[in-house]
Amino acid sequence: MLKLYNTLDREKEEFRPIEKGKVGLYSCGPTVYWFAHVGNMRAYVFADILRRVLAYDGFEVKHIINVTDVGHLTSDADEGEDKMEKSAKEEGKTAKEISHFYFDAFRKDFLKLNLTEPFKWTWATEHIEEQVDMIKSLEKKGFVYTTSDGVYFDTSKFGDYGKLSRKRIEDLEGGKRIDLGEKKNKTDFALWKFSKEGEKRQQEWESPWGVGFPGWHIECSAMAAKYLGETFDIHTGGEDHIPVHHENEIAQSTCCFGVKPVNYWMHGAFLNIKGGKMSKSLGNIETVSELEERGINPLAYRYFCFSASYRKPLTWSEEAIQGAVNSYKKLRNVCLALKSDGKINEKYLVEFRERIDDDLDMPGAMAVLWKLVRDEDAEGKVKGIRKMDEVFGLDLLEKGKVEAPGDVLKLAEEREKARGEKDFGRSDELRDLIKVKGWVVRDGKDGFELERI
Ligand code: AMP
Ligand code: ZN
Repeated sequence: MLKLYNTLDREKEEFRPIEKGKVGLYSCGPTVYWFAHVGNMRAYVFADILRRVLAYDGFEVKHIINVTDVGHLTSDADEGEDKMEKSAKEEGKTAKEISHFYFDAFRKDFLKLNLTEPFKWTWATEHIEEQVDMIKSLEKKGFVYTTSDGVYFDTSKFGDYGKLSRKRIEDLEGGKRIDLGEKKNKTDFALWKFSKEGEKRQQEWESPWGVGFPGWHIECSAMAAKYLGETFDIHTGGEDHIPVHHENEIAQSTCCFGVKPVNYWMHGAFLNIKGGKMSKSLGNIETVSELEERGINPLAYRYFCFSASYRKPLTWSEEAIQGAVNSYKKLRNVCLALKSDGKINEKYLVEFRERIDDDLDMPGAMAVLWKLVRDEDAEGKVKGIRKMDEVFGLDLLEKGKVEAPGDVLKLAEEREKARGEKDFGRSDELRDLIKVKGWVVRDGKDGFELERI
């Protein structure tokens, strides 16, 4: 029986899908104004594990991840500049160029981590009509009011506001640092913002209320309902989304459709650096590609994520990631050295299933894997490991599947040339440089081969 921790009820609950054998899953995705860092990626590793565990348990999963390319302001409280417009201005590019550039970089890192692509990446700017329709419906039902800068949701009209975060409206963060202005309650949030007079935004649309752009929260409600239905099974996101973004999603979806929008809300804890959080706006970040440039296999980062439950904070440090690099290397080497043998190992698989079904207990599942690997008498190890790797996604038995990045290839080609010229000093130097980048070069009869260390 699969149990998942539901933030709504603050407890582990048996997972019961709306439709037998099927799961609708929505994950809040990246705001594509800059590079996504390893902290952001932790949120997607968590969603990927959830998705893989559901598939392992026999569910057919329809997964949606949104791409926020408009409306996310520099302050979550409807103030400040649109992050996309700001970035476009700073880089002298169009907002579309910015969103596509950073989405491509994000997706590249996403795939390097063996994260499963969603059924659909849904872009906010491609769903303006759906968002406007939702706001119209909320207006008709009397949940909105208009100020000089936008159309707002009146949170005092939704009795359950604050239920997810278990906070009273007065204690919630929304609008904490700003005075109310024309807002009626500090938790009220923008559904539609007007373009400022005299300012020409790159991304703006006509609407019944005036030219402008959608607020950040409405995109998730509109796109989730479009692709997964008015009520769907599971919604994930980082824990920072609980008090504002998800509270707002619940308010607007419930009031618009008249039903409970999501049965299970699941939240991933943060990846912190000593004493604080890693965040794009603080600039203290590292990306998966940057790790790779330093010779760290992205899958070692994936392995690192399994060292704590998704609900526990993890601390990022050089020591911690190097520890994961070493353990992952060791694990993979042992697995690759195993010879295929006998029937699948059921005993360990039963234990493994118990761990993953207990709210995705990855540290526990990893302990089972290590136990199987170290058990000299166990049979069917290779088949057991292959099955478990459907969830781990660590390529434990895939030799040299990954292609070397361009800079490593270039070094290897240069080395090949030096060898051809019998410049062995240079050739050794290049071998070391390649090693620093996390690869070993081997010479075969048809030229060189590169393998990740
Ligand atoms: P953003 O691109 O800023 O909209 O964030 C994308 C996702 O990353 C959200 O689900 C956030 O909750 C999550 N997130 C942001 N920072 C971190 C962090 N340091 N650790 C874990 N998740 C994070
Ligand atoms: Zn969202």
